[in-house]
Amino acid sequence: MILLRKNLIDGEWLGEAGSRNINPSNTNDVVGEYASAGPEEAKQAIAAAKAAFPAWSRSGPLARHAVLKKASDEIMARKDEIGRALAREEGKTLAEGVAETIRAAQIFDFFAGETLRLSGELVPSVRPGVGVELTREGVGVVGIITPWNFPIAIPAWKIAPALAYGNTIVFKPAELVPESAWTIVDILHRAGLPKGVLNLVMGKGSVVGQAMLDSPDINAISFTGSVGTGKRVAAASVEHMRKFQLEMGGKNPFVVLDDADLAVAIDCAINGAYFSTGQRCTASSRLIVTEGIHDRFVEAMKERLDKLVIGDALDGKTQIGPVVDQTQLKQDEDYIAIGRQEGAELAFGGDRLERGTPGFYLQPALFVGSNNAMRISREEIFGPVANVIRVKDYDEALAVANDTPFGLTSGICTTSLKHATHFKRNSEAGMVMVNLPTAGVDFHVAFGGRKGSSYGSREQGRYAMEFYTTVKTAYTFAG
Ligand code: ADP
Repeated sequence: MILLRKNLIDGEWLGEAGSRNINPSNTNDVVGEYASAGPEEAKQAIAAAKAAFPAWSRSGPLARHAVLKKASDEIMARKDEIGRALAREEGKTLAEGVAETIRAAQIFDFFAGETLRLSGELVPSVRPGVGVELTREGVGVVGIITPWNFPIAIPAWKIAPALAYGNTIVFKPAELVPESAWTIVDILHRAGLPKGVLNLVMGKGSVVGQAMLDSPDINAISFTGSVGTGKRVAAASVEHMRKFQLEMGGKNPFVVLDDADLAVAIDCAINGAYFSTGQRCTASSRLIVTEGIHDRFVEAMKERLDKLVIGDALDGKTQIGPVVDQTQLKQDEDYIAIGRQEGAELAFGGDRLERGTPGFYLQPALFVGSNNAMRISREEIFGPVANVIRVKDYDEALAVANDTPFGLTSGICTTSLKHATHFKRNSEAGMVMVNLPTAGVDFHVAFGGRKGSSYGSREQGRYAMEFYTTVKTAYTFAG
């Protein structure tokens, strides 16, 4: 029997089977069937969230703490089961799926704590006898639209602060990963959220997502996804004068200098470029390498790539799982063809792989002899594909690293304090890593980028408060 998961609207599970969720490691394996909301259901969900806002926004810290803490505890207790389901629907490895699930639990735990730490300011007025109070209030109904590449962590890092600061939610997850989204909503619902506070509307972006963008009753939208959809979110949000926050693509540079520890450089580059099948907005897709270490770096990369185990995400030995679906696989293969046409040399991989089951297996690809003007250097591929750009020295490396329309993360591998410090100061990215992969961040500090990668205030950690609250300045005359 195939599992049927429904949408949660005003505290009720509603809807009929609308779409099938397929395991990318084995396309014969159907994870489940999922309700697919239409515009009417989106409207009902928005109305429910609007009706629930006054009571939830005044519920006080203890009620919110209780729900968030309970959710964190359940996610942590079920980390292996949830992590496995995540790996099955998205294709990242079991270890990555479990780690991401633990991350979600940590995020709920962090924001449970934040509910008890909310404070304001009391400021003397410039007018005698008057007091000024600055407090923060929830924004209202928050629309949360998420992508498929972090099926539980991204929903967690938007839903947890939204609830902690007293907002109500309409949550639209990506079509490819409804199981993780459903699980997180089910856990929060059972943890005691009042009806209407959190609504789940699984369905098509062009239908249910668009209905959210077009609604005057959504007061803020937090979006992670492609640049194209991000621009639609921005235009629609300006039209409705609502707050919005966008996390979009990256074309993150990882610089390797002559003085780098080669083993560290290889570990960082392999992890940053290929783990999670390269499907991370923080992935290192441009490897910018100075000429003194270039040939040794490329040889060592090829050796390591050759040893990577690519296979079924649920096999404990697998290091790189399949690509998420046919569309993404085609995009990866198209870019590999484009790189060749542009004159880059494919030094490793790029072929489809056969495994025991029908799945979207692709051998990680490494280009050499590329330059920063090529499309493979400028456009986000979002797969296990990286290219090496050879440069003369640190100055050229920094210039190439910054020459991109994006600015999410950047990294440098060096033993020089001077160059590490200069890079941290001059890299035009929101997050800079020294001797660490460009992907992989902490959950309790700000996350976000610059230029075409991000728009609006930062996500995660205490910085999340900026988006999910609005400031009130109140004056009192005491005589
Ligand atoms: P990706 O390439 O990562 O799938 P998308 O931007 O297409 O990026 O998808 C990110 C999220 O945005 C998904 O939940 C998707 O359903 C949603 N989405 C897609 N189109 C729209 C739209 N027109 N309006 C609102 N949301 C959309």
